[in-house]
Amino acid sequence: MVFQSLPVRLRAWSSLQRQWKDPPKIHSAKRRIYAICLIMASMALVVTTFLSQTDVRIFQLNLIVNSFGVILSLIALLLLWRWHLWMRIIEVLIVTGIFSYTILWDAMYLRFNLLPNREFVITYQPVFLLGAVILSLMVPQRALLPLLSVPFFTHVVLSRLLLSHFIWGEVHSARLITELSTLITLIPLTLIGEYQRAVILAEQAAQSIHKLAETDSLTGILNRRGLMSQFGQEFAVVALLDIDHFKSINDTYGHEQGDAVLQGVGEYLHGWASADLSSHQSVQVGRWGGEEFLVLLRQCPAEGIAVWAERLRAGLERLCPSGLAITVSIGVAVKLSEESVTQTLRRVDKLMYQAKFGGRNRVAVAGGVSQQSALEVTQ
Ligand code: GH3
Ligand code: MG
Ligand code: MG
Repeated sequence: MVFQSLPVRLRAWSSLQRQWKDPPKIHSAKRRIYAICLIMASMALVVTTFLSQTDVRIFQLNLIVNSFGVILSLIALLLLWRWHLWMRIIEVLIVTGIFSYTILWDAMYLRFNLLPNREFVITYQPVFLLGAVILSLMVPQRALLPLLSVPFFTHVVLSRLLLSHFIWGEVHSARLITELSTLITLIPLTLIGEYQRAVILAEQAAQSIHKLAETDSLTGILNRRGLMSQFGQEFAVVALLDIDHFKSINDTYGHEQGDAVLQGVGEYLHGWASADLSSHQSVQVGRWGGEEFLVLLRQCPAEGIAVWAERLRAGLERLCPSGLAITVSIGVAVKLSEESVTQTLRRVDKLMYQAKFGGRNRVAVAGGVSQQSALEVTQ
Protein backbone atom coordinates (compact mmCIF):
# COMPACT_ATOMS: atom_id res chain seq x y z
CA MET A 1 0.00 0.00 0.00
CA VAL A 2 2.76 2.37 1.06
CA PHE A 3 4.80 1.52 -2.05
CA GLN A 4 1.78 1.93 -4.29
CA SER A 5 0.95 5.38 -3.02
CA LEU A 6 4.56 6.57 -2.93
CA PRO A 7 4.84 7.58 -6.64
CA VAL A 8 1.47 9.34 -6.39
CA ARG A 9 2.59 11.19 -3.29
CA LEU A 10 5.91 12.09 -4.92
CA ARG A 11 4.13 13.45 -7.99
CA ALA A 12 1.78 15.55 -5.85
CA TRP A 13 4.74 16.78 -3.83
CA SER A 14 6.80 17.78 -6.86
CA SER A 15 3.90 19.56 -8.58
CA LEU A 16 3.42 21.49 -5.34
CA GLN A 17 7.05 22.48 -5.20
CA ARG A 18 7.19 23.41 -8.88
CA GLN A 19 5.23 26.59 -8.21
CA TRP A 20 7.70 29.39 -8.70
CA LYS A 21 5.65 32.27 -7.36
CA ASP A 22 5.47 32.62 -3.59
CA PRO A 23 2.06 32.72 -1.93
CA PRO A 24 1.70 36.19 -0.28
CA LYS A 25 2.06 34.75 3.25
CA ILE A 26 5.41 33.14 2.40
CA HIS A 27 6.54 36.28 0.58
CA SER A 28 6.11 38.53 3.63
CA ALA A 29 7.50 35.89 6.04
CA LYS A 30 10.58 35.58 3.83
CA ARG A 31 11.14 39.34 3.81
CA ARG A 32 11.18 39.41 7.59
CA ILE A 33 13.36 36.29 7.94
CA TYR A 34 15.91 37.57 5.41
CA ALA A 35 16.07 41.04 6.94
CA ILE A 36 16.70 39.63 10.46
CA CYS A 37 19.30 37.14 9.16
CA LEU A 38 21.13 39.80 7.15
CA ILE A 39 21.28 42.20 10.11
CA MET A 40 22.53 39.39 12.38
CA ALA A 41 25.09 38.24 9.80
CA SER A 42 26.43 41.82 9.39
CA MET A 43 26.75 42.15 13.18
CA ALA A 44 28.56 38.80 13.39
CA LEU A 45 30.98 39.91 10.66
CA VAL A 46 31.82 43.14 12.50
CA VAL A 47 32.29 41.32 15.83
CA THR A 48 34.50 38.61 14.28
CA THR A 49 36.69 41.22 12.65
CA PHE A 50 37.29 42.93 16.00
CA LEU A 51 37.86 39.64 17.83
CA SER A 52 40.57 38.63 15.35
CA GLN A 53 42.74 41.66 16.20
CA THR A 54 45.23 39.39 18.06
CA ASP A 55 46.64 38.16 14.73
CA VAL A 56 47.53 41.01 12.37
CA ARG A 57 47.40 38.98 9.14
CA ILE A 58 44.06 37.41 10.00
CA PHE A 59 42.70 40.79 11.13
CA GLN A 60 43.70 42.40 7.81
CA LEU A 61 42.09 39.58 5.89
CA ASN A 62 38.95 39.81 8.04
CA LEU A 63 38.80 43.55 7.50
CA ILE A 64 38.87 43.18 3.71
CA VAL A 65 36.62 40.16 3.24
CA ASN A 66 34.15 40.97 6.06
CA SER A 67 33.76 44.59 4.92
CA PHE A 68 32.84 43.13 1.55
CA GLY A 69 30.32 40.86 3.32
CA VAL A 70 28.78 43.75 5.31
CA ILE A 71 28.44 45.91 2.16
CA LEU A 72 26.73 43.00 0.35
CA SER A 73 24.33 42.55 3.30
CA LEU A 74 23.45 46.25 3.35
CA ILE A 75 22.79 46.21 -0.40
CA ALA A 76 20.58 43.13 0.03
CA LEU A 77 18.68 44.85 2.89
CA LEU A 78 18.13 47.92 0.72
CA LEU A 79 16.85 45.74 -2.14
CA LEU A 80 14.51 43.86 0.25
CA TRP A 81 13.15 47.14 1.56
CA ARG A 82 12.70 48.98 -1.77
CA TRP A 83 12.32 46.31 -4.45
CA HIS A 84 10.95 43.34 -2.51
CA LEU A 85 8.65 42.41 -5.39
CA TRP A 86 11.73 41.20 -7.22
CA MET A 87 12.16 38.59 -4.49
CA ARG A 88 13.61 35.88 -6.71
CA ILE A 89 16.37 38.14 -8.07
CA ILE A 90 17.22 39.36 -4.57
CA GLU A 91 17.30 35.77 -3.30
CA VAL A 92 19.64 34.72 -6.11
CA LEU A 93 21.91 37.68 -5.29
CA ILE A 94 21.94 36.94 -1.54
CA VAL A 95 22.62 33.24 -1.99
CA THR A 96 25.34 33.80 -4.59
CA GLY A 97 26.89 36.47 -2.32
CA ILE A 98 26.88 34.19 0.72
CA PHE A 99 28.38 31.17 -1.02
CA SER A 100 31.02 33.28 -2.80
CA TYR A 101 31.87 34.87 0.55
CA THR A 102 32.25 31.44 2.18
CA ILE A 103 34.33 29.98 -0.64
CA LEU A 104 36.44 33.16 -0.86
CA TRP A 105 37.40 32.62 2.79
CA ASP A 106 38.44 29.00 2.13
CA ALA A 107 40.55 30.20 -0.80
CA MET A 108 42.14 33.02 1.24
CA TYR A 109 43.10 30.76 4.13
CA LEU A 110 44.49 28.23 1.68
CA ARG A 111 46.38 30.88 -0.30
CA PHE A 112 48.01 32.36 2.81
CA ASN A 113 48.47 29.01 4.55
CA LEU A 114 46.56 30.11 7.66
CA LEU A 115 44.67 27.94 10.14
CA PRO A 116 41.05 29.12 10.49
CA ASN A 117 40.68 30.76 13.89
CA ARG A 118 37.86 30.00 16.31
CA GLU A 119 35.98 33.29 15.67
CA PHE A 120 36.12 32.63 11.97
CA VAL A 121 34.63 29.14 12.26
CA ILE A 122 31.87 30.45 14.54
CA THR A 123 30.84 33.20 12.07
CA TYR A 124 31.51 31.39 8.87
CA GLN A 125 29.36 28.32 9.54
CA PRO A 126 26.15 30.22 10.39
CA VAL A 127 26.68 32.36 7.26
CA PHE A 128 26.96 29.21 5.16
CA LEU A 129 23.86 27.90 6.94
CA LEU A 130 22.00 31.12 6.09
CA GLY A 131 22.84 30.61 2.42
CA ALA A 132 21.48 27.07 2.58
CA VAL A 133 18.30 28.21 4.34
CA ILE A 134 17.59 30.93 1.76
CA LEU A 135 18.29 28.49 -1.04
CA SER A 136 15.81 26.02 0.49
CA LEU A 137 13.11 28.74 0.62
CA MET A 138 13.83 29.69 -2.95
CA VAL A 139 13.96 26.60 -5.07
CA PRO A 140 11.75 23.52 -5.39
CA GLN A 141 12.76 20.88 -2.87
CA ARG A 142 13.93 18.54 -5.64
CA ALA A 143 16.41 21.09 -6.96
CA LEU A 144 17.73 21.95 -3.50
CA LEU A 145 20.25 19.15 -2.98
CA PRO A 146 21.89 19.34 -6.44
CA LEU A 147 22.15 23.14 -6.10
CA LEU A 148 23.40 23.04 -2.54
CA SER A 149 25.93 20.32 -3.31
CA VAL A 150 27.98 22.71 -5.52
CA PRO A 151 28.98 25.24 -2.82
CA PHE A 152 28.93 22.51 -0.17
CA PHE A 153 31.46 20.23 -1.92
CA THR A 154 33.62 23.15 -3.06
CA HIS A 155 33.76 24.21 0.59
CA VAL A 156 34.47 20.65 1.82
CA VAL A 157 37.28 20.13 -0.74
CA LEU A 158 38.88 23.50 -0.02
CA SER A 159 38.69 23.12 3.77
CA ARG A 160 40.09 19.55 3.53
CA LEU A 161 43.01 20.88 1.47
CA LEU A 162 43.50 23.64 4.00
CA LEU A 163 43.33 21.43 7.09
CA SER A 164 45.71 18.87 5.58
CA HIS A 165 48.47 21.51 5.95
CA PHE A 166 48.21 21.36 9.72
CA ILE A 167 48.65 18.64 12.33
CA TRP A 168 45.53 16.96 13.76
CA GLY A 169 45.73 18.49 17.28
CA GLU A 170 45.60 22.02 15.90
CA VAL A 171 42.58 21.49 13.69
CA HIS A 172 40.53 19.20 15.90
CA SER A 173 37.99 21.69 17.31
CA ALA A 174 37.66 23.67 14.08
CA ARG A 175 36.99 20.51 12.15
CA LEU A 176 34.48 19.22 14.67
CA ILE A 177 32.50 22.46 14.50
CA THR A 178 32.57 22.34 10.70
CA GLU A 179 31.21 18.79 10.55
CA LEU A 180 28.53 19.42 13.19
CA SER A 181 27.23 22.62 11.63
CA THR A 182 27.07 20.89 8.25
CA LEU A 183 24.80 18.28 9.82
CA ILE A 184 22.74 20.94 11.55
CA THR A 185 22.16 22.61 8.14
CA LEU A 186 19.82 19.77 7.25
CA ILE A 187 17.42 20.40 10.15
CA PRO A 188 16.19 23.93 9.22
CA LEU A 189 16.07 22.86 5.58
CA THR A 190 13.64 20.07 6.44
CA LEU A 191 11.57 22.30 8.73
CA ILE A 192 11.37 25.10 6.17
CA GLY A 193 10.39 22.65 3.43
CA GLU A 194 7.57 21.34 5.63
CA TYR A 195 6.38 24.85 6.57
CA GLN A 196 6.38 25.93 2.94
CA ARG A 197 4.45 22.81 1.93
CA ALA A 198 1.89 23.35 4.71
CA VAL A 199 1.30 26.98 3.66
CA ILE A 200 0.95 26.07 -0.02
CA LEU A 201 -1.48 23.25 0.82
CA ALA A 202 -3.54 25.56 3.05
CA GLU A 203 -3.70 28.21 0.28
CA GLN A 204 -4.75 25.58 -2.27
CA ALA A 205 -7.45 24.29 0.10
CA ALA A 206 -8.70 27.85 0.71
CA GLN A 207 -8.80 28.47 -3.05
CA SER A 208 -10.80 25.32 -3.77
CA ILE A 209 -13.23 26.06 -0.91
CA HIS A 210 -13.67 29.57 -2.30
CA LYS A 211 -14.29 28.18 -5.79
CA LEU A 212 -16.77 25.60 -4.46
CA ALA A 213 -18.65 28.27 -2.51
CA GLU A 214 -19.11 30.31 -5.71
CA THR A 215 -20.01 27.46 -8.07
CA ASP A 216 -23.48 26.12 -8.68
CA SER A 217 -23.29 22.40 -7.99
CA LEU A 218 -25.90 21.46 -10.61
CA THR A 219 -24.75 23.48 -13.62
CA GLY A 220 -21.09 24.14 -12.80
CA ILE A 221 -21.41 27.86 -13.59
CA LEU A 222 -21.32 30.67 -10.98
CA ASN A 223 -24.00 30.57 -8.30
CA ARG A 224 -25.71 33.60 -6.76
CA ARG A 225 -22.79 34.20 -4.37
CA GLY A 226 -20.31 33.91 -7.26
CA LEU A 227 -22.31 36.40 -9.31
CA MET A 228 -22.54 38.80 -6.40
CA SER A 229 -18.79 38.67 -5.94
CA GLN A 230 -18.53 39.92 -9.55
CA PHE A 231 -20.68 42.95 -8.75
CA GLY A 232 -17.65 44.84 -7.45
CA GLN A 233 -16.42 45.16 -11.04
CA GLU A 234 -17.68 47.50 -13.74
CA PHE A 235 -20.53 46.14 -15.87
CA ALA A 236 -22.24 47.71 -18.86
CA VAL A 237 -25.18 45.34 -19.40
CA VAL A 238 -27.21 43.09 -17.11
CA ALA A 239 -29.62 40.43 -18.42
CA LEU A 240 -31.92 38.15 -16.42
CA LEU A 241 -33.24 34.97 -18.10
CA ASP A 242 -36.11 32.90 -16.75
CA ILE A 243 -37.16 29.59 -18.29
CA ASP A 244 -40.84 29.70 -19.25
CA HIS A 245 -43.26 27.25 -17.62
CA PHE A 246 -40.39 25.33 -16.09
CA LYS A 247 -42.63 23.93 -13.39
CA SER A 248 -44.59 22.04 -16.04
CA ILE A 249 -41.35 20.34 -17.22
CA ASN A 250 -40.82 19.10 -13.68
CA ASP A 251 -44.45 18.08 -13.38
CA THR A 252 -44.57 16.31 -16.73
CA TYR A 253 -41.12 14.70 -17.01
CA GLY A 254 -39.94 14.61 -13.40
CA HIS A 255 -37.45 16.58 -11.34
CA GLU A 256 -34.43 14.76 -12.78
CA GLN A 257 -35.37 15.76 -16.30
CA GLY A 258 -35.86 19.31 -14.99
CA ASP A 259 -32.32 19.18 -13.58
CA ALA A 260 -30.98 17.96 -16.92
CA VAL A 261 -32.67 20.92 -18.67
CA LEU A 262 -31.06 23.34 -16.20
CA GLN A 263 -27.67 21.68 -16.82
CA GLY A 264 -28.15 22.01 -20.57
CA VAL A 265 -28.98 25.71 -20.25
CA GLY A 266 -25.98 26.26 -17.92
CA GLU A 267 -23.67 24.51 -20.38
CA TYR A 268 -25.03 26.57 -23.29
CA LEU A 269 -24.57 29.85 -21.40
CA HIS A 270 -21.06 28.85 -20.38
CA GLY A 271 -20.22 28.12 -24.03
CA TRP A 272 -21.80 31.42 -25.04
CA ALA A 273 -19.71 33.30 -22.49
CA SER A 274 -16.51 31.55 -23.59
CA ALA A 275 -17.21 32.30 -27.27
CA ASP A 276 -17.93 35.95 -26.47
CA LEU A 277 -14.78 36.13 -24.35
CA SER A 278 -12.74 35.02 -27.33
CA SER A 279 -14.32 37.84 -29.34
CA HIS A 280 -13.08 40.31 -26.65
CA GLN A 281 -16.54 40.76 -25.11
CA SER A 282 -16.10 39.93 -21.45
CA VAL A 283 -19.09 37.99 -20.11
CA GLN A 284 -20.05 36.50 -16.75
CA VAL A 285 -22.88 34.00 -16.53
CA GLY A 286 -24.37 32.33 -13.49
CA ARG A 287 -27.46 30.71 -12.03
CA TRP A 288 -29.27 33.39 -10.08
CA GLY A 289 -31.59 30.82 -8.48
CA GLY A 290 -34.10 28.11 -9.50
CA GLU A 291 -34.62 28.42 -13.27
CA GLU A 292 -33.24 31.97 -13.48
CA PHE A 293 -29.87 32.83 -15.00
CA LEU A 294 -27.95 36.09 -15.02
CA VAL A 295 -25.63 37.40 -17.74
CA LEU A 296 -23.30 40.35 -17.13
CA LEU A 297 -21.48 42.09 -19.99
CA ARG A 298 -18.50 44.37 -19.44
CA GLN A 299 -19.08 46.33 -22.63
CA CYS A 300 -22.23 47.13 -24.58
CA PRO A 301 -22.50 44.86 -27.64
CA ALA A 302 -22.01 46.72 -30.92
CA GLU A 303 -25.30 45.32 -32.27
CA GLY A 304 -27.22 46.87 -29.32
CA ILE A 305 -28.59 45.09 -26.26
CA ALA A 306 -31.97 44.22 -27.77
CA VAL A 307 -30.50 42.41 -30.77
CA TRP A 308 -27.84 40.79 -28.59
CA ALA A 309 -30.42 39.47 -26.09
CA GLU A 310 -32.68 38.36 -28.93
CA ARG A 311 -29.80 36.28 -30.30
CA LEU A 312 -29.39 34.68 -26.88
CA ARG A 313 -33.12 33.98 -26.61
CA ALA A 314 -33.31 32.46 -30.10
CA GLY A 315 -30.23 30.31 -29.37
CA LEU A 316 -31.87 28.88 -26.25
CA GLU A 317 -35.07 28.24 -28.17
CA ARG A 318 -33.11 26.14 -30.68
CA LEU A 319 -31.17 24.34 -27.96
CA CYS A 320 -33.69 21.65 -26.84
CA PRO A 321 -31.76 20.67 -23.72
CA SER A 322 -32.21 17.01 -22.85
CA GLY A 323 -34.48 16.69 -25.90
CA LEU A 324 -37.08 19.15 -24.60
CA ALA A 325 -38.04 22.39 -26.31
CA ILE A 326 -37.81 25.37 -23.97
CA THR A 327 -38.27 29.11 -24.22
CA VAL A 328 -36.96 31.90 -22.01
CA SER A 329 -38.13 35.38 -21.08
CA ILE A 330 -35.33 37.93 -20.80
CA GLY A 331 -35.13 41.31 -19.10
CA VAL A 332 -32.08 43.31 -20.17
CA ALA A 333 -30.81 46.80 -19.37
CA VAL A 334 -27.74 48.99 -19.73
CA LYS A 335 -26.34 49.78 -16.31
CA LEU A 336 -26.56 53.50 -15.65
CA SER A 337 -23.41 55.08 -14.29
CA GLU A 338 -25.19 56.46 -11.21
CA GLU A 339 -26.76 53.14 -10.16
CA SER A 340 -25.30 50.04 -8.56
CA VAL A 341 -25.52 46.58 -10.14
CA THR A 342 -28.16 45.70 -7.52
CA GLN A 343 -30.31 48.67 -8.60
CA THR A 344 -29.92 47.66 -12.26
CA LEU A 345 -30.90 44.13 -11.24
CA ARG A 346 -34.13 45.43 -9.73
CA ARG A 347 -34.99 47.12 -13.03
CA VAL A 348 -34.01 44.03 -15.00
CA ASP A 349 -36.18 41.84 -12.77
CA LYS A 350 -39.19 44.09 -13.51
CA LEU A 351 -38.36 43.93 -17.23
CA MET A 352 -38.21 40.15 -17.11
CA TYR A 353 -41.73 40.12 -15.61
CA GLN A 354 -42.85 42.51 -18.36
CA ALA A 355 -41.59 39.93 -20.86
CA LYS A 356 -43.58 37.26 -19.01
CA PHE A 357 -46.75 39.36 -18.99
CA GLY A 358 -46.16 40.26 -22.63
CA GLY A 359 -46.61 36.57 -23.50
CA ARG A 360 -43.22 34.95 -22.58
CA ASN A 361 -40.51 33.78 -25.02
CA ARG A 362 -39.39 37.37 -25.58
CA VAL A 363 -36.94 40.08 -24.60
CA ALA A 364 -37.85 43.23 -22.69
CA VAL A 365 -35.35 46.07 -22.79
CA ALA A 366 -35.19 49.16 -20.58
CA GLY A 367 -37.64 51.93 -21.47
CA GLY A 368 -40.58 49.53 -21.48
CA VAL A 369 -40.01 48.56 -25.11
CA SER A 370 -41.00 44.96 -25.47
CA GLN A 371 -39.31 43.14 -28.28
CA GLN A 372 -41.43 40.67 -30.18
CA SER A 373 -39.83 37.28 -30.29
CA ALA A 374 -38.29 36.17 -33.57
CA LEU A 375 -40.78 33.33 -33.65
CA GLU A 376 -43.80 35.62 -33.35
CA VAL A 377 -42.41 37.99 -35.96
CA THR A 378 -42.05 35.17 -38.47
CA GLN A 379 -45.48 33.78 -37.71
P1 GH3 B 1 -42.88 31.12 -15.50
O1 GH3 B 1 -42.94 30.95 -16.97
O2 GH3 B 1 -43.83 32.09 -14.96
O3 GH3 B 1 -41.45 31.43 -15.05
O4 GH3 B 1 -43.28 29.73 -14.88
P2 GH3 B 1 -42.35 28.69 -14.17
O5 GH3 B 1 -43.10 27.40 -14.04
O6 GH3 B 1 -41.05 28.61 -14.88
O7 GH3 B 1 -42.08 29.41 -12.77
P3 GH3 B 1 -42.39 28.97 -11.32
O8 GH3 B 1 -41.72 30.02 -10.45
O9 GH3 B 1 -43.84 28.72 -11.11
O10 GH3 B 1 -41.63 27.59 -11.14
C1 GH3 B 1 -40.28 27.45 -11.12
C2 GH3 B 1 -40.02 26.01 -10.86
O11 GH3 B 1 -38.62 25.74 -10.94
C3 GH3 B 1 -40.46 25.55 -9.52
C4 GH3 B 1 -39.35 24.72 -8.97
O12 GH3 B 1 -39.76 23.46 -8.57
C5 GH3 B 1 -38.40 24.57 -10.14
N1 GH3 B 1 -37.05 24.49 -9.73
C6 GH3 B 1 -36.31 25.39 -9.03
N2 GH3 B 1 -35.08 24.93 -8.84
C7 GH3 B 1 -35.01 23.72 -9.42
C8 GH3 B 1 -33.96 22.73 -9.56
O13 GH3 B 1 -32.84 22.91 -9.09
N3 GH3 B 1 -34.26 21.58 -10.23
C9 GH3 B 1 -35.51 21.37 -10.77
N4 GH3 B 1 -35.70 20.24 -11.42
N5 GH3 B 1 -36.49 22.28 -10.63
C10 GH3 B 1 -36.25 23.42 -9.99
MG1 MG C 1 -38.63 32.06 -11.97
MG1 MG D 1 -39.81 30.34 -15.01
